[in-house]
Amino acid sequence: LQMGLRRLTGKGKLDEKDIDDMLREVRLSLLEADVNYKVVKKFLADIKEKALGEEILKGLNPGQQVVKVVREELKKTLGDEAVDLNIKEHGTTIVMAVGLQGAGKTTAVGKMALFYRKKLKKKPMLIAADIYRPAAVDQLVTLGKSINVPVFEMGTKVSAEKIVTEGLKKAREEGCDLVFIDTAGRLQINEELMQELKNVKEIANPDEILLTVDAMAGQDAVNVALSFHKDLDITGIILTKLDGDTRGGAALSIKEMTGIPIKIMSTGEKLDAMEIFYPDRLADRILGMGDVLTLIDTVQENINEEEMKQMAEEMMKNNFNYNDLLKQFKMIKRMGSISKLLGFLPGMGQMKQAMSQVDDKAFDKIEAIIYSMTEKERCHPELIDKDFKRRDRIAKGSGRSIQEVNRLRTMLEQMKKTMKQMKNMDEDDAKRMSQQ
Ligand code: GDP
Ligand code: MG
Repeated sequence: LQMGLRRLTGKGKLDEKDIDDMLREVRLSLLEADVNYKVVKKFLADIKEKALGEEILKGLNPGQQVVKVVREELKKTLGDEAVDLNIKEHGTTIVMAVGLQGAGKTTAVGKMALFYRKKLKKKPMLIAADIYRPAAVDQLVTLGKSINVPVFEMGTKVSAEKIVTEGLKKAREEGCDLVFIDTAGRLQINEELMQELKNVKEIANPDEILLTVDAMAGQDAVNVALSFHKDLDITGIILTKLDGDTRGGAALSIKEMTGIPIKIMSTGEKLDAMEIFYPDRLADRILGMGDVLTLIDTVQENINEEEMKQMAEEMMKNNFNYNDLLKQFKMIKRMGSISKLLGFLPGMGQMKQAMSQVDDKAFDKIEAIIYSMTEKERCHPELIDKDFKRRDRIAKGSGRSIQEVNRLRTMLEQMKKTMKQMKNMDEDDAKRMSQQ
């Protein structure tokens, strides 16, 4: 893929052939990640349309631009943002985990109990409804003990339907408000299993039916998902074993073919190895172009961020002067977007207001005023404050009015004040403000 990218580097304009060349590489990469070939075909057809209409951003070469489009589409396809489980604030939430044997249901159930007990202060309970797999009940009981979560079980001689009925009763009695049902799997889908799961679903009326899919299952995952979905109306996917070296292409296939959102990622055998699903992370992994993506990110943000940091540090110094202001304006202009700049700095609540009145043309005027100052005046703003003659000279030299020069002085004062406030804040305050 990087070779394809290199071939494209340095060209000024993106034509259809360039896109085709690049997409051929992307296609290979996706197939390598085990994405279903039909999905790849459809996905890339969409991309081509998008890429053809797209302007090449400043700072990116054509190849990177294509990859950028691919990446954005991939994220969009996987889900625009993280989708958390549908857990009720009040009342009992019931989550049913289904999937093939060995996919990681039991482990995931334990992980989710632990995760949501901590995150939402829920009181979880696990119901052992896998009566077929040898030692499945024991496995869940042991797991429950290790995280101190109650497990309801009735051995393996009672039907799953009965266990679930009794388990839910018990959960209500004990005041457990987040119930996970660990169901049986099979090596392959069969009628008997599906019927049992349908029965359990009817009894439990779950808020979530999560299909557990082994990320390493690759191509098969789609068919599995389709048949579970047909019978059970799956509400979300738990993608497991992402700690392996699979790129997780199955996720893209499932999402494209079934539309079911991926909700949980399981990343190891330990019980804390679970994350809510973030599309951007998996998108990058499926694309499998770490270096290129890092490069794009760097071009887009990191270089500027580094400069921003330096600038912020300088601004924090007490002797903030017209030269600093000039530097800022240059950077803002180069970046093209004020709001983006503001996003990089802590404490931008106040500053955003001050700056929102300033459009790009206003920058030019202000620059002209500063250029009409002597170096000494730029470094020592108080010289101008004290001396009307200097202000008059600067106004004439820049072709601006005295009022405008005065407005600039006020602006510098305001910014200085903000800087001082920011300097006095402790780190927590800074963090809080940057999140505003
Ligand atoms: P079930 O049959 O669907 O209930 O699957 P289990 O939860 O019993 O898991 C089957 C095996 O996969 C066990 O050995 C688990 O430790 C392992 N496993 C489950 N989830 C993960 C994961 O995210 N990463 C890794 N490496 N192993 C996992
Ligand atoms: Mg199990």
